[in-house]
Amino acid sequence: MARPEARALTRELLAYNTINPPGMERACARHLGGLLEAAGYAIAYHEFAEARTSLVAHIGVRDAKPPLCFTGHIDVVPLGNARWSHDAFAGETDGDRLYGRGSTDMKSGIAAFVVAATQLAPELARGPGLVIVITAGEEIGCEGAKYLADRKLLDRAGAIVVAEPTANYPYVGHKGLAWFEVETTGVTAHGSMPEVGENAIVKMAEVVGDLGRFRFPVESHAVMGKPTLNVGTIHGGLNTNSVPDRATITVDTRTVPGIDHVHLCESLQALVAPRGARVKRIVETPALYTEPANAWVQEVFAMCTPYLDAPPTPKTITFSTDGADLKRGFGGATPAVILGPGEPRLAHQTDEWCSMGRIDQSVELFRTLMQRWNGA
Ligand SMILES: [Zn+2]
Repeated sequence: MARPEARALTRELLAYNTINPPGMERACARHLGGLLEAAGYAIAYHEFAEARTSLVAHIGVRDAKPPLCFTGHIDVVPLGNARWSHDAFAGETDGDRLYGRGSTDMKSGIAAFVVAATQLAPELARGPGLVIVITAGEEIGCEGAKYLADRKLLDRAGAIVVAEPTANYPYVGHKGLAWFEVETTGVTAHGSMPEVGENAIVKMAEVVGDLGRFRFPVESHAVMGKPTLNVGTIHGGLNTNSVPDRATITVDTRTVPGIDHVHLCESLQALVAPRGARVKRIVETPALYTEPANAWVQEVFAMCTPYLDAPPTPKTITFSTDGADLKRGFGGATPAVILGPGEPRLAHQTDEWCSMGRIDQSVELFRTLMQRWNGA
């Protein structure tokens, strides 16, 4: 079987419509699984719902040293309301640019590590090897990765490369994300007699004020900076001439290591309890962080330097990834970097594109990472 080439494989992956919702990643996952299986990998498919398929592929001997992990998600976000000037699924090119939904986030990253993994399969088979985790459902709450971690479907990994879009700059982590819904309730009455009702919107206004004064238990992190809180939506009331009996807001917090999301929910609940409000956690992804002094991270920094303008310095990226849930699935102590060919500023944009030159660089870089891990 012919080995795939990374630019061509990216275009093949773009042709699968994996827009989430609904995702429907099965055909795309099976295509990648077929390529890896033909190269000698052992494949397992895991579906958290009908046709929501993640894939775990492994090669290597069971050794004292665990395999290196590469991971990526195959779902993509919707196209948005603006018109695209290029077909979002056809893999159109213009100069160095390859256009399409998922070109940057992150089918190019998956293509790059799958190509490197198939090229090196014979030598990886003789060493500690490689585990490849390709997930469904990342864009809405990391569902595929959470399923793999919760069901204990991951064995072990010595380090993780999350091939999300970073223009080949190695990032050492990202903040956590925890979203909450807050509800206030009251008693409805005619709008001409507010004194006989209890106004849920007025209570919510006080809750929003309380949240503005919230202090996180960890004020700042050396690399990530401060945790944040934003009230993102507000809903309440049915008509102007009634006293509203229900109001809700949703709150987006971005957290740093040391802030536990269950504890955070309890702290927010305690803060707004005097207003009679209830807090519910709706979505969460833990923070991901590896100390930049970690020996493997330093090695990754050195290997990336030839592809960058200057040696990398420790930074974290703004978006969150599957990495934190997978790290938990691998036992919680695995170092991780976020490193991939896509352009971070183009993720989720209209006319998303990826540099084809960077895809080729990623293949070289990923090959080097795989070979070094395997002692070459
Ligand atoms: Zn992504």
